[in-house]
Amino acid sequence: MLLISLASLTVVGLAFGLWFWWACTVPTSMFFKPALIRGPKEGKRVCLTFDDGPASPFTEQILAILREYQVPATFFVCGRNVEREPDLVRRVVAEGHAVGNHTYSHLFVFFRSRRRMAEEIDRTQGIIEKVAGHRPRIFRPPYGARWFGLVPTLLERGIHLVLWSATGYDWKKDVPGIVAAAMKGLKPGAVILLHDGRETRSAGQLDRSRTVRALPGIIAGARQRGYTFVPLQEFLPST
Ligand SMILES: [Zn+2]
Repeated sequence: MLLISLASLTVVGLAFGLWFWWACTVPTSMFFKPALIRGPKEGKRVCLTFDDGPASPFTEQILAILREYQVPATFFVCGRNVEREPDLVRRVVAEGHAVGNHTYSHLFVFFRSRRRMAEEIDRTQGIIEKVAGHRPRIFRPPYGARWFGLVPTLLERGIHLVLWSATGYDWKKDVPGIVAAAMKGLKPGAVILLHDGRETRSAGQLDRSRTVRALPGIIAGARQRGYTFVPLQEFLPST
């Protein structure tokens, strides 16, 4: 009898653990609300987003491709990287793209206090405002992780929580693999995640050349399937 109760307790514990992990880490989980994961399903509109920049020379190379194909994008930047390469962020804005907050130090928010999360968010808001002239209204948590207190902290500041619904897995795949993965996630309203940097590493410590080489294929592939790239702004509630 005791063994049976112990076994059922273990099963319940494991199930809760799995659920909890899903709620806090899987980008499409809606446990922490409100969050933008995917845009409206009307029209074949999709968004491109790049995390962890700015990081030279990859951000410039991505900007050149976006300009060539006339595609708007959103860059979720880390405050630390903005301090290192402020001109790149100015260029992102000057070329018509949006900038979002991705914490200062690429913080993993698990078990972090509300105060610590707020500190990272506010510090980065201030840095971006100084460099780009405005405070972002969008935030994406590093690793897509969410924790208790994060959503209220963002709501207080009028910032939207943005996750993603598709990715090229550009941190682990080769160029054809990145294109194929992005195409697989292509659906009306898809928010596609790619990377122009890597956490807060500086140039020389990272290589995003595969993302750069995959980008034209992703853009062309989506357009061939009848999709249009729109600014992330179009997917946010208008209030
Ligand atoms: Zn990141």
